[in-house]
Amino acid sequence: MASFSSIQPAAAQPPSATATSTHTSHLLSHHHHPDQLSLPSPPPPPSHRRLLRRPHCIRAIDAAQPYDYEAYLFNRFSQSSKLKIAVVGFGNFGQFLAKAFIRQGHTVFAHSRSNYHAVAQSLGAAFFTDPHDLCEQHPDVILICTSVISTESVLRSLPLQRLRRNTLFVDVLSVKEFPKNIFLQVLPHHFDVLCTHPMFGPESGKVTWQNLPFVFDKVRIGNEESRVNRVETFLDIFKKEGCTMVEMSCAEHDRYAAGSQFITHTMGRILEKLQLESTPINTKGYETLLNLVENTASDSFDLYYGLFMYNKNAMEQLERLDLAFEALKTELFGHLHEALRKQLFGKSEEGGHRRPMLAKLPKNGTPLLPPQSEAVANKNN
Ligand code: NAP
Repeated sequence: MASFSSIQPAAAQPPSATATSTHTSHLLSHHHHPDQLSLPSPPPPPSHRRLLRRPHCIRAIDAAQPYDYEAYLFNRFSQSSKLKIAVVGFGNFGQFLAKAFIRQGHTVFAHSRSNYHAVAQSLGAAFFTDPHDLCEQHPDVILICTSVISTESVLRSLPLQRLRRNTLFVDVLSVKEFPKNIFLQVLPHHFDVLCTHPMFGPESGKVTWQNLPFVFDKVRIGNEESRVNRVETFLDIFKKEGCTMVEMSCAEHDRYAAGSQFITHTMGRILEKLQLESTPINTKGYETLLNLVENTASDSFDLYYGLFMYNKNAMEQLERLDLAFEALKTELFGHLHEALRKQLFGKSEEGGHRRPMLAKLPKNGTPLLPPQSEAVANKNN
């Protein structure tokens, strides 16, 4: 037993010898008379030599140690790396995350607009209908998992005064600048703020989170060691599940996400409206489309609307999509038009007509149309 190893030599001696030796060493080291120093003293017996060199190394351990002392220490250590996490918004995604937290040994409290008592109980979480009761549990982390559009009202409804000062607030919203700004507006400065976005959901992360990106921005974290450690412990949950951890600013996230996630969801929803069906001759590409519909259609419309409404880059992406579709149609109809003219007018038309080419859109981030003044100036030249 490692915790006892440093005092084992003393334990090897009978109790009476231990007590005598301790007493002798004490006298030898502190209480001899100065006159006695000049007297040649006989060499100490071998059993006392070690005591002379290290007079205080022997301690009595006659008192019984608790038999489960090591287990107690182990529990204390593992508890120190566990968090009390309050999941606010216990819908589809909140429950999905809670399962992983509980699996890793963290304590989960849940709160939501609807009553999820039974669901929470089945997962091993405690459900609180009243946010006052939730906050009085003094969670280490408040995890906001509500729809984007309801986030501000939910946050404002929490009785912050019941929380411990410096509680860590985290969100998992699919847009990032919006919750960051709301947190900074609503939360007193003594609360910590971490904005995150797991780039997967209950469908895409059903089997594993291995190599799935997890974006985070440490927006406001106090300097104290315990606060820094708490954030790391929270992030560790996702590291342990195998996520690829990506630290980036909320603004950067929103720029990338509009061009990737919002476009993906939009295509999924367009295809859903087409009511695609599986056929006996599905190609791999078509299977991919069917999967896309399945992945995106299971998310709520609130989620999709949040991606559009609360990411300032989303509108530009929608316009680009429109332009790209128009350009593609123009190219197709141009080919058709040419074929028809050939049929009508024969070879005489050849070479006299240029086939329209698909216009490449300018890269993301460049304005789609020149500013008004420039356009007018060009016209006048
Ligand atoms: P969601 O439709 O975006 O949000 C549903 C949650 O919001 C439920 O907990 C619901 O509570 C709550 N809610 C909705 N309207 C409310 C209101 N007016 N007042 C109070 N609470 C309200 O679906 P979700 O998939 O669960 O997503 C939750 C959050 O996670 C969203 O911010 C989303 O962007 C983010 N996220 C989702 C995924 C995903 O794949 N699903 C991935 C990454 C991030 P009740 O259930 O109690 O009604």
